[in-house]
Amino acid sequence: MCVFCKIVAGEIPSYKLYEDDDVLAFLDIAQVTTGHVLVIPKKHYKDIFTLDKDIAQKLFAATVEMAQKLQKNLKINDLNLVNNNGKKAGQEVDHYHLHLLPRYLDDDVEFKFKRQNLSQDEMKKIQEKILDS
Ligand code: 5GP
Ligand code: ZN
Repeated sequence: MCVFCKIVAGEIPSYKLYEDDDVLAFLDIAQVTTGHVLVIPKKHYKDIFTLDKDIAQKLFAATVEMAQKLQKNLKINDLNLVNNNGKKAGQEVDHYHLHLLPRYLDDDVEFKFKRQNLSQDEMKKIQEKILDS
């Protein structure tokens, strides 16, 4: 059983914030910023590629509710929603989860993206590749 399945089963304690039949939200054990929350489906799905779409709807609704609760009660207006899928993307726990990361003026969280400007031709090729079935 994976670590998040153990949390769902109550075999590992957690600081729960939200729970329904399909979804659980709890504090990340390693708080990147104060109020760092994880939202997970109770059922084990490895990643976004295998996630059930109906569960995804419930998961996102709970995530929005959680974000609004954080905004209200932690008095924050900045938040990153992060979801890592696969090792290269930084996924360490192979049970689908969304990170809610409240952001503060003095936090030292950094996301770095090196952006590229492609030609119209290159953009079109990417579009065609993605749409190809
Ligand atoms: P990932 O890198 O897979 O996107 O993030 C996994 C997250 O799970 C990490 O932020 C890590 O701190 C958190 N985590 C790992 N084990 C536990 C645990 O036993 N309890 C809680 N609450 N969080 C955990
Ligand atoms: Zn699991």
